[in-house]
Amino acid sequence: MTEALSQAAAFDYLIVGAGFAGSVLAERLASVGGRVLVVERRPHIGGNAYDCYDDAGILIHPYGPHIFHTNSKDVFDYLSLFTEWRPYQHRVLANVEGQLVPMPINLDTVNRLYGLNLTSFQLEDFFASVAEPVEQVRTSEDVVVSKVGRDLYNKFFRGYTRKQWGLDPSQLDASVTARVPTRLNRDDRYFADTYQAMPLHGYTRMFQNLLAHPNIKVMLQTDYREVQRLIPHDHLIYTGPVDAYFDHCYGKLPYRSLDFRHETHDVEQLLPVGTVNHPNDYAYTRVSEFKHITGQQHRQTSVVYEFPQADGDPYYPVPRPENAELYKRYQALADAEPDVTFVGRLATYRYYNMDQVVAQALTTFRKLQGEPVESQST
Ligand SMILES: Cc1cc2nc3c(=O)[nH]c(=O)nc-3n(C[C@H](O)[C@H](O)[C@H](O)COP(=O)(O)OP(=O)(O)OC[C@H]3O[C@@H](n4cnc5c(N)ncnc54)[C@H](O)[C@@H]3O)c2cc1C
Repeated sequence: MTEALSQAAAFDYLIVGAGFAGSVLAERLASVGGRVLVVERRPHIGGNAYDCYDDAGILIHPYGPHIFHTNSKDVFDYLSLFTEWRPYQHRVLANVEGQLVPMPINLDTVNRLYGLNLTSFQLEDFFASVAEPVEQVRTSEDVVVSKVGRDLYNKFFRGYTRKQWGLDPSQLDASVTARVPTRLNRDDRYFADTYQAMPLHGYTRMFQNLLAHPNIKVMLQTDYREVQRLIPHDHLIYTGPVDAYFDHCYGKLPYRSLDFRHETHDVEQLLPVGTVNHPNDYAYTRVSEFKHITGQQHRQTSVVYEFPQADGDPYYPVPRPENAELYKRYQALADAEPDVTFVGRLATYRYYNMDQVVAQALTTFRKLQGEPVESQST
């Protein structure tokens, strides 16, 4: 270590992780004069939203399809400083009993599946007639059966959830299936958010722009533990798994992982829409075709299959009460670390989308700046 380094902190902030949480905070802190070092274990920036060109020259998302959507004007305006956008509305079909039908369940889904010709008003009555009364909606099963009944629950949710989470919907918080709406109309968009768009030149380019400030240095392929003591810094911002930070002292927080099978096919288009779900057959949950999502023109096409796993890279915090309890114990330890800030999906053990992580990072920045902030609403 040089003398200069040992005398004063070389960096105001050491940020662990170059995903949305780490990169947004790096940019914000650098913009007000902070000297920032971002340390990332992987060989690239962008976290799970990283995209790149595969061998065929097709832009893919190695960690699964990432579709940007938000209702937050603040988040959209902020990211718009670093990327142009391509309007994109994601559509998903579910393969149920040999038919490809719209997901989320809408008027067409029910009509096609049951050979009916209902109107929106009649669909409301239909749902009311099949819905099961549930006194207190607590689990993911409760949410669905109380809205659309057992048959649709079995066809669309039960198998998918069991594959995705390795748990029955009755064992998962209501929040998991509550994310997927049910529609009385024919709207077949997967999301209904105000802003739905993809970064025009991809996520990685947007991350490059976020991290381009001269006050930001990025160190890839480095676990922060390798350099934490070597590089003086005033404050640590941690966006990795919270239990790993504390050496799993209370035991491992459950995260669900995925194996991705990427394939390139010698046809221009393989799927009718961006994603096809397979709730009941195969070991994979869904297959997605990137060219739908990115709008790229190419004579071949690349797709990804997702195989849920218990072990592997931590991708999804598992929302159930006992995990929330365990997280609370880690959160108490995190709160007691004065020089460390925990932010992001894994560090706060929340099943957050990209826009929610950006919102959380922007709020965290304001807190670090000493601004009064309303309690986290995301
Ligand atoms: C398959 C899949 C699909 C998704 N699809 C969507 C979608 O369509 N739309 C949407 O809005 N959201 C989606 N998400 C969620 C989205 O990926 C996250 O909300 C977002 O990427 C979280 O950003 P983050 O910065 O909190 O975490 P991450 O992106 O996980 O970044 C954390 C970074 O920290 C690094 N790190 C961890 N530990 C260390 C260490 N010890 N030393 C150094 N570096 C470390 C990791 O390598 C990682 O790069 C999806 C997630 C998955 C898994």
